[in-house]
Amino acid sequence: MYRLLLLSFLVLQGLALMAQENGYAREIVKTLSSEAFKGRAYVGDGNKKAAEYIKNQFQSIGLKPIEESFAQPFDLKVNTFPSNMSLKIDSLELVPGQDYIIDPYSSSLKGNYQVLQLKMKDLLNEDILKKTINTGLGKVLLVDVTKFNPKDKKEEQLAGELLNVLKYNPQVPLAAVIVYTNKKLTWSTANMQAAKPSFILNKELDLSQIKTVDIQVSARLINYTSENIVGYIEGSVQSDSFLVAMAHYDHLGLMGADTYFPGANDNASGIAMLLTLARHFQKYPPKYSMVFIATGAEEIGLLGARHFVEHPLIQLDKIKFLVNFDLAGTGDEGIKVVNGSVHQKPFNELRQINDRLHYLPSVQKRGEACNSDHCLFHQKGVPCFYIYTLGGIKAYHDIYDRNETLPLSYFDNYSQLMIDFFTQFE
Ligand SMILES: [Zn+2]
Repeated sequence: MYRLLLLSFLVLQGLALMAQENGYAREIVKTLSSEAFKGRAYVGDGNKKAAEYIKNQFQSIGLKPIEESFAQPFDLKVNTFPSNMSLKIDSLELVPGQDYIIDPYSSSLKGNYQVLQLKMKDLLNEDILKKTINTGLGKVLLVDVTKFNPKDKKEEQLAGELLNVLKYNPQVPLAAVIVYTNKKLTWSTANMQAAKPSFILNKELDLSQIKTVDIQVSARLINYTSENIVGYIEGSVQSDSFLVAMAHYDHLGLMGADTYFPGANDNASGIAMLLTLARHFQKYPPKYSMVFIATGAEEIGLLGARHFVEHPLIQLDKIKFLVNFDLAGTGDEGIKVVNGSVHQKPFNELRQINDRLHYLPSVQKRGEACNSDHCLFHQKGVPCFYIYTLGGIKAYHDIYDRNETLPLSYFDNYSQLMIDFFTQFE
């Protein structure tokens, strides 16, 4: 009886601990993706605020800095949209983020413009293209890509390149370009500015009725000092070898004064994973030293990771293994392991743990992909994985990547799988 009681007490306590852990991850995701952090980019110092928050977490968990501080600063350049943005088609005011996104390379513009229209396939007709350029001075070109049916990949690519010429070539005298699409809007960041603005528009409209557009954009190319945040736990057996957990904390920030990109899955969830692992290994010191890197400026082109590999705080050849966490918040269909087919042995170990304990619906592998921060370590010969979760919500680089809709339903199991993986790593 007593034994039974004790058992159920332990079981209950275990469940309570799990709930608490998910509670911690939820708190991290909720905080970092909240409006106060402005999408963790460079307008209004959301990036600095996120960095301060993570340093405080490192501190309270008990991680140690490798040098005198957790921060490893680096400089960057980024194009930003700090103030009011407006796009009006005739008299219809469109909603930024929902109806349209601005091309990240865009420059400032303000005024009312006459609209020229083309279909995407017209770009392939040299006469039409020339005529558009010759008569386009001071006008806005709307390119309808919705019914474009290229006969092959080559034709599709050529049309795409010609569209880029219209958008980015400073000799094209158009005032702006609007690309009309029926595909999901996916934003990104740029570190340069083109001569004019462009927009990607997705809203049901009668294009034949459009006569003028009213545009207000204020773009500013700025210099900014961001930082990587690096802490560690000393290994209990072989402290001069390292296991590394890494995740980027930056996101896309503000598009105009009022529209922010929360980045709950990308990548507040990865930071939640990093901190959850740090909390565990602080309590149960690992065999090898464990390093935690929250990288900055991944979204501008892996800048923080690049800075780290060029100015490593630990010897890169002492890294036994590195795992980069980006998009850690779903998992209904399991996880995908980039470099899983490159590093067979650790991949098999990861999969075997999962087969034994059924943490996640699947552990899948793929080859190399230079699609997140791990890539720069991989290029330097550091053995590494980049792991992202599969299934669940499809929000990505848009205003819908929010805490409220991010499930985190597999988060506890996923973090337990990674704890087991790092603990057992030989
Ligand atoms: Zn990301």
